[in-house]
Amino acid sequence: MAGSIGYAERLSWRDDVGGTLGTPEFQEADDAELQRKIDTLAELIRESRAESGGMVVHTGAGISTSIGIPDFRGPNGVWTAQKRGAPMPEATCTLGTAVPSLTHMALVELRERGYVRYLVSCNVDCLHLRSGFPREDLAELHGNCFAERCERCDAEYVRDFEMQTVGFEYTGRTCDACAEKKRKRESGARRSSRASASRCAAARLRDQVLDWDDALPPEELRRAEKHSKETCLSLVLGSSLQIAPSCDIPLETVKKKKGKKGKLVIVNLQATPKDGKASLLVRARTDVVMAGVMRRLGLRVPEYVRRDRVTVGFRLAAIPEPNGDVSRTLTVRAGSSHGWDNPVPWLERVSVKICGEGDHLDQIASIELLDAQTRARIPQRYDALNDGRYEDRRGRSYEPAFDGNDDREHEPNGDGGPSGPFFEGRLEALNASSFDALLERKKTRVRVELTFAAGVMIRHAEFWTDIGPWSGGVRDLGDHSLIATTQRTHSVITSRRRYEDPVPALRQPQRKKENNPAP
Ligand SMILES: [Zn+2]
Repeated sequence: MAGSIGYAERLSWRDDVGGTLGTPEFQEADDAELQRKIDTLAELIRESRAESGGMVVHTGAGISTSIGIPDFRGPNGVWTAQKRGAPMPEATCTLGTAVPSLTHMALVELRERGYVRYLVSCNVDCLHLRSGFPREDLAELHGNCFAERCERCDAEYVRDFEMQTVGFEYTGRTCDACAEKKRKRESGARRSSRASASRCAAARLRDQVLDWDDALPPEELRRAEKHSKETCLSLVLGSSLQIAPSCDIPLETVKKKKGKKGKLVIVNLQATPKDGKASLLVRARTDVVMAGVMRRLGLRVPEYVRRDRVTVGFRLAAIPEPNGDVSRTLTVRAGSSHGWDNPVPWLERVSVKICGEGDHLDQIASIELLDAQTRARIPQRYDALNDGRYEDRRGRSYEPAFDGNDDREHEPNGDGGPSGPFFEGRLEALNASSFDALLERKKTRVRVELTFAAGVMIRHAEFWTDIGPWSGGVRDLGDHSLIATTQRTHSVITSRRRYEDPVPALRQPQRKKENNPAP
């Protein structure tokens, strides 16, 4: 399940999704004509900054097709295929690993330079936010597959994993902001028998993806309409303008106000029902048009850099054995910075290397993985890990690798993706003194290597982290006692992309051969 297909399958079934489907696509036949149109558009964009603080841009699925996410109503769109009974179009990437298109990144720069005052999108793929477009200047009218919102305080959480529901269902997670407020309230208030705050339920989060009959988010809709009224230019990029009320918002710009009316420009391969209202129609791919606009405005399309976060935690415990001995274990866990129970779809494998000086790691005898769900030991599947590198150069080191790419079923994401909820490895000591020695140190250096899932642009990252300083003290947890824990969240760069001009014909004309001697 990938790209927009997964999202489409989660929507309620509709035989007839409305609007027209699969109408033919056109491209400007005459390149000179296309260039003139881009000249005109660039000029209108310049004027909009001077006259009304920038344009309003309205984006649809057409701005994401160049990166491998199918649209809905194009000749190869999701709804078009459904109506024909044809196989669903192939997505070449998942929404979780998709990289913003040139158009997404151009819009970030245009907003930075004051050419865009507001962005209205019907896309749910999170790519505007991932590209770095500020949330306060963006209306996500149909929601976002990666966002969830608190029903009590309205705080929005944007995740690195896709929601599994649509239609504002509970996601099973609760609001950190509300929990923090509650904690402060409780620690501030004198403990009295009247304090009942602790008994009120945690604030629950809901997904933020509209199903067919859901109402658009009212505040974002209001802002989209207000900005569209106030600007002198609305630019539609890659939308067939068929879903009401979103498709009517750009028309606010061309309604007459105080004797003046603004302009509408539509860049789309298919004809739209609003073409008659547009003062300029461009039949070309949005990346081609936006690359041309950027060049004319003397701007560069910024590089895309994605950072993801992973939490690495260590936990030292004492477990009583049947024979009366007590064994010590060090558990290493790498997982979602959004909480241990969440999937990490961009991460495939974690390997941790503890570099010790002296003999405190001498007694580490074995490693095994715990099943993330059942907590059962699953040693056989990971026999190879017992061959983990054990070096004896400068002190001792031991390198277990935790491979999450197995065939366990991972709920709640359960879509067969490569990620477990988290990666966990356990080091066991035959001798308690080895870990006591660990505890005595202020910190021990640990090297963490990450392998990213298929589709993520950068495949590896590694960093050093410290185990310690430890905290927790000894706590009796029934079958074992917790001695100490330490945990830290790390930010890693997982994707990086530069944007080349997509059409050679649009580059500067080549110099004549005699002026351009071969190197
Ligand atoms: Zn809240």
